[in-house]
Amino acid sequence: MYNLIMFGPPGAGKGTQAKIISKRLEIPAISTGEMIRAAIKSETPMGLAAREYTESGRLVPDEVVIGIIKERLTEADCQKGFILDGFPRTIPQAEALAQMGVEITKVISFEVSDEAIVDRMSGRRLCSSCSASYHVKYAPSAVEGKCDSCGAELIIRKDDKPEVVLSRLETYHSETEPLKAFYEKQGVLAIVNGEGEVDKVSESAFKALGVTVD
Ligand code: ADP
Ligand code: AMP
Repeated sequence: MYNLIMFGPPGAGKGTQAKIISKRLEIPAISTGEMIRAAIKSETPMGLAAREYTESGRLVPDEVVIGIIKERLTEADCQKGFILDGFPRTIPQAEALAQMGVEITKVISFEVSDEAIVDRMSGRRLCSSCSASYHVKYAPSAVEGKCDSCGAELIIRKDDKPEVVLSRLETYHSETEPLKAFYEKQGVLAIVNGEGEVDKVSESAFKALGVTVD
């Protein structure tokens, strides 16, 4: 059973890799960012409360995201394992996860320099309907501005604007990066070079998990 955490700065490729690993291991990829964006779109009370934080690039309060994860992990599809993408992002969130009785198999930390992050986030495009993710240079859609899977319009995330990206990176270094030491102490941290092509990064991630791929 694999209970995995995709770790790294915003734009490191956590979502991209979570989807690939999810397919191979047949366990769900759970993105708190995606759940929050969906809640904002449908204007649920949680979405309305989170909007200001997320769109300005700040972290949503711990109790809110801990609540989201607690509920999600009780769903049936998580019984054979799961991949967390974007959670935990603070020490209290990691402690809450441990208190839920969750045993983490591996934390894969995708190492990407700040310069590469800015390049990745400035080119990221998101489907306005099914939330598939693209990059104008590295993972373009077949038809510019349209989603390959559903044909809907591609948009730029509000928090991918250059001024917001820099503050998200600062938040990563101050609030989230300390989690590496937290998980290293537990012996579950795996460092992976996140700067190669998507396939190369997946190859390293599977190697770290001891999983073979054809
Ligand atoms: P995260 O989930 O960590 O925020 P994403 O998976 O959304 O990151 O990736 C950020 C952007 O970089 C996306 O536009 C994605 O298509 C692109 N990307 C992901 N992995 C790579 C890679 N190995 N090389 C180049 N671009 C990548
Ligand atoms: P992501 O899609 O992972 O880049 O997350 C987008 C945004 O959602 C973040 O900048 C935060 O505002 C919010 N968010 C997602 N996950 C968390 C988390 N674990 N803790 C706090 N805020 C989060």
